[in-house]
Amino acid sequence: MKLVELHPTHCPICDTEGKATEVYPANFDPQAFNPAVFSARRLPDRLHYRLVRCDRCGLVRSDPVADARMLAQLYAHSSFDYGEEVTNIRRTYGRYLSHLRGGKGALLEIGCGNGFFLEEALDQGYAEVWGVEPSESAVSQAGPRVRPHLRCDILRPGLFDPGSFDAICMFQVFDHLPDPAALLPEILRLLKPEGRLLLLNHNIAAWSARLLGEKSPIIDIEHTCLYSPATLGYLLERFGFQVERTGAVFNDYSLHYLARLLPLPAGAKQRLLSWLHGHPVGRLCLRVPLGNLWLVARRREG
Ligand SMILES: [Zn+2]
Repeated sequence: MKLVELHPTHCPICDTEGKATEVYPANFDPQAFNPAVFSARRLPDRLHYRLVRCDRCGLVRSDPVADARMLAQLYAHSSFDYGEEVTNIRRTYGRYLSHLRGGKGALLEIGCGNGFFLEEALDQGYAEVWGVEPSESAVSQAGPRVRPHLRCDILRPGLFDPGSFDAICMFQVFDHLPDPAALLPEILRLLKPEGRLLLLNHNIAAWSARLLGEKSPIIDIEHTCLYSPATLGYLLERFGFQVERTGAVFNDYSLHYLARLLPLPAGAKQRLLSWLHGHPVGRLCLRVPLGNLWLVARRREG
């Protein structure tokens, strides 16, 4: 079987190759890395590339990585399931959308899944919503209010007219992009002069990531870069944005969902989960910071 070739990556902030210090070695044998290992969402848990930290800016990135085209194929064929938590996720994302200043004309979500957040944006009064999503399965599950406005694609020049959007959003997407430096100029082009970019993704500087180290679920082969509020700010500033606000995300989760994250022996956890599943207590909603950051940026003035 053909083996996957790994390519060196460069820091999207400093534009340097190498000049970085290893944080974790890859936890798989690159010699035995073939497309079957990498097949859609059947990855063994916790598989990750070699991770390095840029000596100059501190950004953590995967290096080397497989070809971006392979990653695109993986996402095109990935299945899509938010399960029972979709209501809570929608409420969490919606809360950060409601922090945005500026007009409520047109909104674009990049990596919109089945469009559940776009329905939330319509409910919050946005006049027009658009979504881009590479997974065919996700787009096919979109509701009738948003389906005609979803493009099964990745964001690329020509998909939308310049200056089209008051708001552009990415939820748990930005750290998956193979080349964030290529996407940011296009986002800037698509924003209206007063438009805002809203990002929500993992925070490598969060207490949970520091505590768990390599065992953190964010140390994963799907993440090309892992940002902190500082490195995400440097990157956005490099591409002509100005960060307005950033902070820790408080996610709404059911007690049943949170119990899955507890470090308990398998048998005990299974008993707890099945009890919570059948009991109203399991549906209790808690608001907790789980190591994500949110950030709002706009076009830099002057
Ligand atoms: Zn750097």
